[in-house]
Amino acid sequence: MKLAILDRDGTLNLPGDGYIASPDEWIVLPGALEAVARLNRAGWRVVLACNQPGLGRGLFDVTVLNAIHAKMYRQLAALGARIDAVFFCPHAPQDACDCCLPRPALLAQICERYGVEAPQLLVAGASAALLEAASALGVRALHCVAANAPHADLPAGTQVHASLAAMVEQVLQEAQPPLAAATPGARDAPVPTEAPLPLPVAPTPGAPHAA
Ligand SMILES: [Zn+2]
Repeated sequence: MKLAILDRDGTLNLPGDGYIASPDEWIVLPGALEAVARLNRAGWRVVLACNQPGLGRGLFDVTVLNAIHAKMYRQLAALGARIDAVFFCPHAPQDACDCCLPRPALLAQICERYGVEAPQLLVAGASAALLEAASALGVRALHCVAANAPHADLPAGTQVHASLAAMVEQVLQEAQPPLAAATPGARDAPVPTEAPLPLPVAPTPGAPHAA
């Protein structure tokens, strides 16, 4: 199974200035939910993992959090996109829990739930905490989706993208088989010894694509 784990604030929606404490404050980033739809169509299941310390601090309750996510699910559904579940740490920092990112327990729980090994995961987020947790667990495909994130804080090997949409564009392009492999009969054709090597097809950065 192809499983992608994303964080929420700054990845799907505007980060706000601290806590997203009501559905009205959850404002989607342009293209983010369409990017989830593209992942889904390419066979990826998508879940979220995030800290919700506002719960532990009593700034809002689970009913409010569910209402925020109900708004998100409605907007996803309108685009034919699906996020399977939201895994979150409900604790305040002083609770010293195990599930708080960047500790890896929350991601380990997701792996167990879905029967997926960590190295197979694709993890993308705007904050370093999710990426640190994923790195600690052995995830190899680490993607920061905020171009202005402080790169010194990111785990080694993290690829940086301007947005979730840009990340998905690149991941799906890399997943496509090389054109030569799809040429029928190529294997049987005589190969001239001095034939020039085929030029690689370079992806066009920022090329528009059909909505
Ligand atoms: Zn926790």
